[in-house]
Amino acid sequence: MTLGRNFDPAGCEQLLIKVLRSTPKLEDAACIGRHELFDGRHATETHAHAREKGERARALCDRCPARAACTAWAATEPNPTGHTIAGHTPEPAIPGRPRKAAS
Ligand code: SF4
Repeated sequence: MTLGRNFDPAGCEQLLIKVLRSTPKLEDAACIGRHELFDGRHATETHAHAREKGERARALCDRCPARAACTAWAATEPNPTGHTIAGHTPEPAIPGRPRKAAS
């Protein structure tokens, strides 16, 4: 991998610092070491497997001691990729054109 001519190491560092400072430390999170359950659906994964994975992730969230702090943080974060966060798995976007609003 090569970095483009416009790569700005100082800007990258500042962005990383900003992200890390805004992310809470959830040291007792039940999902530590279980990231594979929380990822969104992979292109090679069946819908049934992705659904089961989400159910297992939500079950971990249900008994997570850090859930309140995680829920508060998740409310401030967009989740466009369908990851399970704080016991919630967003519905996957349906491919195709958006429907027209009823008039
Ligand atoms: S509530 Fe779920 S996503 Fe949040 S820290 Fe706990 S296990 Fe992880």
